[in-house]
Amino acid sequence: MNQLKLLWQLQNYDNRLTEIEQEKENLMDEKDIEDLNVKLMQTKYDLMNKKTQFDVDNEKIERHNKKLKEINYSIKQIDNKLYGGDISNIKHLEKLQQEDTELKETANNLETDILTLMEDIEKTDKEILVLDKEYKSLVKSIDKIKEEKDEKLKALNKEIEDIENNHKNIIEKLDDDMLRRYKKLKSRKGKAVVKVIGDKCTGCHMNIPLSTLSKIKSNSKIHFCDNCGRILYYVAEES
Ligand SMILES: [Zn+2]
Repeated sequence: MNQLKLLWQLQNYDNRLTEIEQEKENLMDEKDIEDLNVKLMQTKYDLMNKKTQFDVDNEKIERHNKKLKEINYSIKQIDNKLYGGDISNIKHLEKLQQEDTELKETANNLETDILTLMEDIEKTDKEILVLDKEYKSLVKSIDKIKEEKDEKLKALNKEIEDIENNHKNIIEKLDDDMLRRYKKLKSRKGKAVVKVIGDKCTGCHMNIPLSTLSKIKSNSKIHFCDNCGRILYYVAEES
């Protein structure tokens, strides 16, 4: 490989290394994971609240049922007295009837409350299922992203290793003076070696004089752009 091609290759490796650094930096940015973690915590919190609500409502039903049982027992006692035919005192009878009506009303209200609570529980139970599914899916997503990032990072590090080896090989073959000029141009202008397309330098987009152009095309010596000073790289049409 001639010096020009080596320089071109070197620049490709250098550019790729810069790209990889950027890709690695992007991978290290964990904004995506942080956002998902916020969602995860929120879901966990919602789930906890719903489970607490579920338990509280169940306890309420239990209490209501207990109370209902007591009331029904009292009603039965009163009904026995009322229809047993043992009470002849009309005032006593009226008092018992009133008590009976009141107790039956309370029992009715309790039954209605229990039904409402059961509906609430059913709804909460469904919400818990949805939240639980969401929570698990978030955990899965976070794990997957972490895994993918890890794999990409490993691949990039391997690529860096390969490039550094190739880089070393090229530098060994390059003239010291050429390498110095390349490095200086690269740090000052970003691109050190630029393609010649048509009759233009693609570094500065100025026309290259015909005399220089024909020299570039006929030999593989290194030529610099008169205008921007970059190294000109001419590739025959096929590439
Ligand atoms: Zn130029």
